[in-house]
Order: sequence, then structure tokens, then C-alpha cells
Amino acid sequence: MTTIPTLFEESVPGRQGVTLPAVNGAVDLNQWLPKELQRQKPARLPELSQLEIVRHYVKLSQRNHSIDTGFYPLGSCTMKYNPKICDWVGQLPGFTQLHPETPDQYAQGTLSILYRLQEYLKDITGFTAATLQPAAGAHGELVGMMMIKAYHQHHGHAERNEVLIPDSAHGTNPATAVMCGFKVIEIPSGKDGLVDLEIMKQHLSDKTAGIMLTNPNTLGLFEKDILEITRLVHEAGGLCYYDGANLNAIMGYARMADMGFDVMHINTHKTFATPHGGGGPGSGPVLVNDKLEPFLPCPTIEMKADQYCLNWDRPHSIGKVKLFNGNIEVLLRAYAYIECFGMQGLKDVSETAVLNANYLKESLKDTYAVPYPQTCMHEFILTSQNQRATDSHINTMAIAKRMMDYGVHPPTVYFPLIVPEAMMIEPTETESKQTLDAFIGIMKQIHEECLAQPEMVLAAPHTTPVKRVDEVQAARFPDLNYYANLDANPTAKVDPKDAVTGCFDNKSTCG
Ligand SMILES: *Cc1c(COP(=O)(O)O)cnc(C)c1O
Repeated sequence: MTTIPTLFEESVPGRQGVTLPAVNGAVDLNQWLPKELQRQKPARLPELSQLEIVRHYVKLSQRNHSIDTGFYPLGSCTMKYNPKICDWVGQLPGFTQLHPETPDQYAQGTLSILYRLQEYLKDITGFTAATLQPAAGAHGELVGMMMIKAYHQHHGHAERNEVLIPDSAHGTNPATAVMCGFKVIEIPSGKDGLVDLEIMKQHLSDKTAGIMLTNPNTLGLFEKDILEITRLVHEAGGLCYYDGANLNAIMGYARMADMGFDVMHINTHKTFATPHGGGGPGSGPVLVNDKLEPFLPCPTIEMKADQYCLNWDRPHSIGKVKLFNGNIEVLLRAYAYIECFGMQGLKDVSETAVLNANYLKESLKDTYAVPYPQTCMHEFILTSQNQRATDSHINTMAIAKRMMDYGVHPPTVYFPLIVPEAMMIEPTETESKQTLDAFIGIMKQIHEECLAQPEMVLAAPHTTPVKRVDEVQAARFPDLNYYANLDANPTAKVDPKDAVTGCFDNKSTCG
């Protein structure tokens, strides 16, 4: 496949995408902008017609895999189809054109939706209060753990500085605990993939600040001792944090507050719509019980005398954690999604997600090794040991790359870390039986290829715009800077010093 030139390379002087109306009479720019802020030279922007720009971006988009183009069984990420009505709601001008500083009394529409979203999330989880501010799951974890810290300090127990985290947890859990100044105690999983209660007990003490638990865990298994886990942690004086990234498996069936948890985050971009394949904006609402309610970030969204309002009067709050009310467009999508399904519908979503995962697991268990064969929740783990003949170097990476040749996004691989050569598959509820059957066929085909033509599989992918990259090279010497390349390229059309955007040298760190 040929490379796509950049817009700067495609630029033709004088070509226009939009024609602006002529200006009548002279404009005195000095009236509008101080002299030192005015441009000395015109901006060097690419000059193209609308059609060229549209083609450029559509071509680029077609080089990516997306949920709109193919199956995307990326475990723990819940890459489901997102109903387009959710995008439509999120982009309604009444929401998008509301100035973020609008006084509460003129923002009643938006505030009412956010308030109702909080109520829905409370219903789904059983908690009594919420904040919608956090920008993603990891940010929600940070907020939750900051509240746990504030709680212990408030109660005169600043010495409680240990947080228990199972070894199957997402890396954001220990990272968050460490950022909050806690010491992480890793709890090994038992043979069944679940928290080993006996080992957990040995680590509970008057230093215990709490536990961070993902349920269903990242192996796709429901922690069967969950009531006992929360009881024991509370008995030791700790609090219980629930990582809700896998809510898609159990919503409508079980509530986290009923399991004994004090606080949780929800990844609305996983469970309740919002396409997030590119790491785009997310949202990580945090829900709490009465113990942690005083520490919620401010302002909270409340209703007083029939008016929705932002309450800043919260003396114990950990403070504001995000500008305005969080990523509103993502929250609106979540609201629309919940409205569309209703509580019974959400239950059906969980049920179908679990059914699809078990269907795939049962259909593939005779071909691929299944380290945890019990009934799974919304995702499950395979490994590549059956595909590796004694003299071949086939591994999970090779199989994942080969899937791309069949138009399938690889599952999450080499995670959780406790399973060597893991493939973590999450089909979600939105895939049809035909798609699941096609995937099963592809996996069986790849199995045959691994045994018959291992060299071909090891060289995959063969059909994608980018083939195998040198990953060590890419990580050590990332080439992220277009302008630096232009410097070295004599045919460059734009003098890097004249460019108006981007960073101009290799040393700058642009976010
Ligand atoms: C996705 C995920 C997170 C992090 O959430 P982000 O929204 O990506 O920040 C945390 N824990 C688990 C189990 C996850 O799957």
C-alpha cells in the first residue's frame, strides 16, 4: 500500500477549501488586536480543496481498524458497537453550545441530565452519591483512592498506608495507589484465578487502608468470595474499592454496594457507549456510600428547591478534579444509552455479553488451551501453547498479528500478567452469531497455519498498511516529529520555522 502524503505535501498555492465573503472597506486590525500579537507573515497552512481534504482524512481512517469496520474482541476494553443515537444526543447544539461558565439557573437542562445520570448510576450500583468529574477509569481510581486516604486521615488513622491489590489487576490500580502515597501489597491469585482468601487474611492489619478489587476480574471470573473479602477488609478497618471496568458483565444482576464496597468507578466509555479505540475522551464517574460522601470532589450536582445546582460548600471535599462538569459529551452518550435500554435492557446486555463469551470459549477450547476452564463472565483467556510445535517459535504475538490479516482486531495479549502468552477475548453483546462463528473459523484456520506454515504466521501481518515493526527500535527511538523529518528532507514545502502548529525540534515534548 502506498503512503498517504501529508496535507502540507499535497498543498497547492492558492487552492481554497472555503470561500469567505469579501471584506468591505479597510479593517483596522489595531482596533482588535494589540500590535505584538499580530502576525508578521501569513500562516503557512496547507492549501487544498474540500474534496482533497475529505479524501485525505477518509483514506487515513480506512487504514485503521474500528468497530465500524470489523470485530474488535479487545479484552477488558469492551469494544462494543455504540448506537449512533448516543453520538447524536452528545452533539445536540443545546449542549455543545452551552458556555461552561453559564450560571446554574441558565444551565438547568444540562444539569438535569447530569443529575439524572447520577441517579441512574446510583440505581445500577446501589451507591448513594456520585461525582461525574473524572475523565476516565484511571482518573476515577485516583479520585476514589484520594477519598479513602482523606477518610483515614479524617478519622485519625493516617498510619493506614497499605493497599491490597490482586496480581491480576489492571496496572492502573497499583499505579493509583502509589500515586496516593500508599504501599501496594500484591495478593497472588489461587489456582482457580480468584483471590486467595487465606493469603489475603495474612496481609490484613492495622496498617490496612483498603483493597482495590476488579470484579469480574481480568480473567473474566466472578470473585465468588466477594462478600467475605469485603467483610474481612472492613473488619480490619480498611475500605473497599471496586474497579468497575467490567461492569458490562453484571449490570442489572448484582450491585457493587450490596457486595460491601465503599467506592467504585465506572468506565462509561466501556459500558455505556462512546467509541474509545483511539484512546479518545472517556469518563470515569465515581460512586460512594455514606462513609465517603463528605469527601467527594466539589462541586457536587444537587437538587435544591426544584432547581439543579452546583454545591461548592463541602468542607471535607478532596477538591475539584476536572474542569467544569467532566467530559460532558461522553456523559450525555452514557445517559442516552441508559435511557434507550432501560434497566431490563441493561440486564439483557450483560446476559448476552456473558453468553457470547462462553459460546466462544466452549467453541475454541478443543483448539486453544484454556487456563481457567470454568464458566466465564464477559471475557476469557486462551493461550498459544497448543499452536507451538516443538521446533516452531509461534507465540501469542504471532497469532495476534495473523488475526489482522483476517480483518479481526487482536484481543488483549500478554495480559493479565499472571498468564504466560495470554489472549484475553471479549466479544461483547453487540456481535451476531454469524460474526462469532466467523471468528471461531478464523481462529481454527490460524491454528492449522501455525502447525503447517509457522514461518508464514511469524511474518504476519501480510495485508495491513504497516507490517511488522521493529518494536524495540520504535520504543527506544520513537519518530514522532514530522517537522524534524522535514528538516532533513530537501523537498519539504514548509520551512519548519514558519509552521504554525506542532513542535519544531526533537527536544520539545508536546502532549
Ligand atoms: C480500562 C481499565 C482501567 C482503566 O480505565 P481507563 O478508562 O482506560 O483509564 C482500569 N481497570 C480495568 C480492569 C480496565 O479494564
